[in-house]
Amino acid sequence: MKRTHIYIGGEWVRPASTDVVEVENPATEQIIGVVPAAGVTDIDRAVQTAQDALPHWAALSPAQRAAYLDRLWQHLDRRREEIARTVTLELGTPLKTAMAIQAGLPLTVLRSYADLAGDYKFSEWVGHSLVVKEPVGVVGAITPWNYPLHQMIAKVAPALLAGCTVVLKPAELTPFVAYLLTDAVHEAELPAGVFNLVCGHGPVAGAALAAHPGVDMVSFTGSTEVGKQISVFAAATVKKVALELGGKSANIILDDADLTTAVKVGVGNAMLNAGQTCTAWTRMLVPHSRYEEALELAAAAARKYPVGDPTLPDTRLGPVSSARQRASVLAHIDTGLSQGARLVAGADEAPSRGHYVPATVLADVKPDDVVAQEEIFGPVLAVIPYSDDEEAVTIANNSRYGLSGAVWSGNENRALAVAGRLQTGSVDINGAAFNPLAPFGGYKQSGIGRELGRHGLDEFLQIKAIQR
Ligand code: ADP
Repeated sequence: MKRTHIYIGGEWVRPASTDVVEVENPATEQIIGVVPAAGVTDIDRAVQTAQDALPHWAALSPAQRAAYLDRLWQHLDRRREEIARTVTLELGTPLKTAMAIQAGLPLTVLRSYADLAGDYKFSEWVGHSLVVKEPVGVVGAITPWNYPLHQMIAKVAPALLAGCTVVLKPAELTPFVAYLLTDAVHEAELPAGVFNLVCGHGPVAGAALAAHPGVDMVSFTGSTEVGKQISVFAAATVKKVALELGGKSANIILDDADLTTAVKVGVGNAMLNAGQTCTAWTRMLVPHSRYEEALELAAAAARKYPVGDPTLPDTRLGPVSSARQRASVLAHIDTGLSQGARLVAGADEAPSRGHYVPATVLADVKPDDVVAQEEIFGPVLAVIPYSDDEEAVTIANNSRYGLSGAVWSGNENRALAVAGRLQTGSVDINGAAFNPLAPFGGYKQSGIGRELGRHGLDEFLQIKAIQR
C-alpha cells in the first residue's frame, strides 16, 4: 500500500515535505506501506484552505449539510469490508471485531449525525433573546490509532453538520483507513476545502495544527500527556479545546451480582482490541467474600483469549499496536508483579513474530499500585478485593482518570446508587449495550467536552444571543 498525496481543497496534492511514515503490520512486523509525513507548510496550506471554504459551508442549511453526510455514509458503507481489513492490517484488531466495531460503529455514528439535523434546535427564543448556535469555525482534528475511523467520524461528522470545516491529522500507526475515509469524501463530492487530510508526525504536523492561529478549535483524542501539550498550544490563541483522553475504569461487581456473567463480560471488556480501549474496565473490583471464586472465573475467561492471527475468523486477541506498545505493556506487568501482584493468567508463550501479549490477569492488586493507577493499554486486567460498597466506591474513585465504569448487581436500584457516586463520564449497569447517541467523555484527567449524539454536536457550535 502506498499513498503519496495529501488531500487539500478537494484535490489530492503532493506535500511540500518529502518525509514519509512507514506503516507496519503488528501481527507480522512487516512494513505494509508508506504515507507522506506532512510538515508545517502543508498544515498552513490546509488550514488556509479550510478557512476559505468556511463561509460558504457555514451558510448552508443544516439539512443541506446533512445531505452531504448522507452521501458520505453511502460511499463509506460500500467500503465496510475494506475498512475492516485495513484496520486489521495496520492495527491488528481481529477481523470479526474489526467488522463490527472498526467499520460498523463509525458508520452508525455517521448515520446518527446525518439523521440529527432535523431534530436539533440551532436557534431558540429565550425571553426577548434569539439564541443562535453557529459553527465554531476551522476545526483541527487530531486522532489516535486504537479505533481510528470511529475517532475520526466522531469529530468530522458533528463538525461538518455544525458548519465547521476540518483539517484531519490521523495517527501515524493507522493512516490507511483515513485514506479510505478521504476517498469516500471525494466521491461524495463534498465542497472543496470542507474536509482536508494531512498525515504526519504528531510533534510536527499535529503540533503545528494545534498551534495554528487559523484553527478555531482543536478536537483531540489520545493520551493524557499529549492532550495537556495540545491545551498549551491551543491556549496561545484561545482556541476551544475538546479532549478525549485516557482512562482506568473500574468494574464494580457487587456481592449480589451474577458473578459468572459479570466476570466473563468484564474480562472480555478488558481484552477487547487487545486492551487498547480508553474505556476498558481495567480494574475489576470484587468483594472479599467472592474473591477466590472470581479469580478462578477470570483465569478461565482469560484462557478463552489465546493470542492469534487477527485475520483468522476465530481470533479474539490479536497483537498490540507496535513494538513500543508491547514493551510498555510488558514493563507494566513486571512492575505489577514486583509490587506484589499474583499472576493468575498470562504466563503463556507468545509467538516469536508479531507484537503479541497474552491475556493477563493480575490478582491481589492494591488500589495505589502502579497497575491500578496507570493506563496500560494492553490486555491486562487488575483484580482488586474490597470489603463493602463504600470501599468499592472509594477505590473506584481513587484515580486521576474518570472516563467510564461498570456496576453489576442483582438489584438495579442498588447498582444505580453506586453508579451515581462514580466520578466518571459514563457507567454501564449489568453489561448494558453501548449507546452511540449517549454523550461520551471524561471527568477529571480523562478529558474536556463530550462526543456523540447531540452533546457531541454542541461542542462544535458557539452561542450568540440577539436581543430585540
Ligand atoms: P499514543 O501514545 O497512544 O500513540 P498519542 O496521544 O501519542 O497516542 O497520539 C494521538 C494523536 O496525537 C496522534 O495523531 C499523534 O500523531 C498526535 N500527537 C502526538 N504527539 C503530539 C504533539 N506533541 N502535538 C500534537 N499532536 C501529537
